[in-house]
Amino acid sequence: MQRRDFLRTTGATLALGAMASGCASTPRAVASAAASAADYDPLPPLAPIRARPDRLIAITVCTRPFRAQGPRIEAEKLGRKTVVHHYGHGGSGWSLSWGSARLALREVLATQVAEVGVIGCGAIGLTTALLAQRAGLKVTIYARERPPEVRSSRATGVWSPDSRYCTAEHATPDAVARWETMARESFRTYQTMLGLPGDPVEWRDGYALADEPFNGGHGEGDGDGEPVYANLLPLIRSLWPRSQDIPAGAHPFPVPYVRRYTTMVYNLSSYSRLLIEDFERGGGRIETREFERPADLEKLPEKTLVNCTGYGARALFGDDSVVPVRGQIGRLIPQPEVDYGLSYGSLFVVPRRDGIVVQTGAPGDYGNADATPNYAESEAAVQQLAALMAKMRRA
Ligand SMILES: Cc1cc2nc3c(=O)[nH]c(=O)nc-3n(C[C@H](O)[C@H](O)[C@H](O)COP(=O)(O)OP(=O)(O)OC[C@H]3O[C@@H](n4cnc5c(N)ncnc54)[C@H](O)[C@@H]3O)c2cc1C
Repeated sequence: MQRRDFLRTTGATLALGAMASGCASTPRAVASAAASAADYDPLPPLAPIRARPDRLIAITVCTRPFRAQGPRIEAEKLGRKTVVHHYGHGGSGWSLSWGSARLALREVLATQVAEVGVIGCGAIGLTTALLAQRAGLKVTIYARERPPEVRSSRATGVWSPDSRYCTAEHATPDAVARWETMARESFRTYQTMLGLPGDPVEWRDGYALADEPFNGGHGEGDGDGEPVYANLLPLIRSLWPRSQDIPAGAHPFPVPYVRRYTTMVYNLSSYSRLLIEDFERGGGRIETREFERPADLEKLPEKTLVNCTGYGARALFGDDSVVPVRGQIGRLIPQPEVDYGLSYGSLFVVPRRDGIVVQTGAPGDYGNADATPNYAESEAAVQQLAALMAKMRRA
């Protein structure tokens, strides 16, 4: 997830971005723009975020497993085994996981086995394993790491179903239809997970702040070294509430333009734990294993395996179509009273229960597999947030 993707998800892209990309407004943007100034719900009091670098408790980096063609979901024969590949979800792995797992499960069920091995214990492996288990199969997960050590645990944790999903060039009608199926199924599943202990999934408001008017264009292809991604959100944008423009004087922010968005947030610590507990309660087993080459998989007892190794598929299967896209987040000590997100300039803030996520994008992330945290980057983001908090009008 990057601020640019997020603004698209919320329909809060700046006029400038749209002009740069030369893109027309989307149906979603039209819906947002249709909101009149009077058409907004009054703001509740917004608790200040204690933005200080010494409150940063974690800085993590992960590489999005991006494929220009979109995720690979297909079966392949490997000696006496069938391997169902299920990897390459870019910046939308959490968001699409349930729908994507359903497509992978179809391939598994076609092999007519009673037992399946799932390789990988991230967002994709866990959801695939759970759906296979619910379909009546005996499932074992084999993985080098499990949460909180997997890359999935270092994600931002928001609904971002078309973030770096595929390039515009690869958005064929079939690919788009497949994405829409996944996104709708995932969205539906997530609504069944609201209100659970630990709040694994929640709906949260946030505020996009700007010094220039919003216009809702999609703002991709902005010359930061990344390809032009497919803009798929308009297909499903009616699923969640439209953004609301908040008039000057009705908000405490020190900027002229404010747009409220509403989005799903994944509290990744409790959510991952819930997935693992559900899987183990259903009789599933997780075994720590590392595979160096495809032939290693032949030693497993199950005849059908699902390859949910994410970025790991690049090394394990020599698949160079998986491109790393680096992303870093910092987490501030949680503040339960902070229940809103923010986006301003390159700054992006998510009010997760397991820490307030503070994120900025950095140039050169595309193709960059360097997972070394850059403290200065997160510190600068926190300082920027602190400056914003200092200028907020207090009731
Ligand atoms: C900064 C950042 C923010 C993001 N924010 C969001 C967001 O807000 N919303 C969203 O939907 N998505 C987001 N994403 C994308 C999301 O994190 C990924 O799409 C998702 O994590 C991919 O999950 P995965 O299960 O395929 O991979 P992983 O989490 O990497 O899991 C792979 C599993 O395979 C195992 N494995 C790999 N290789 C081997 C091997 N050789 N032998 C044994 N085991 C192996 C690993 O140990 C692990 O268990 C973000 C990504 C980044 C980098």
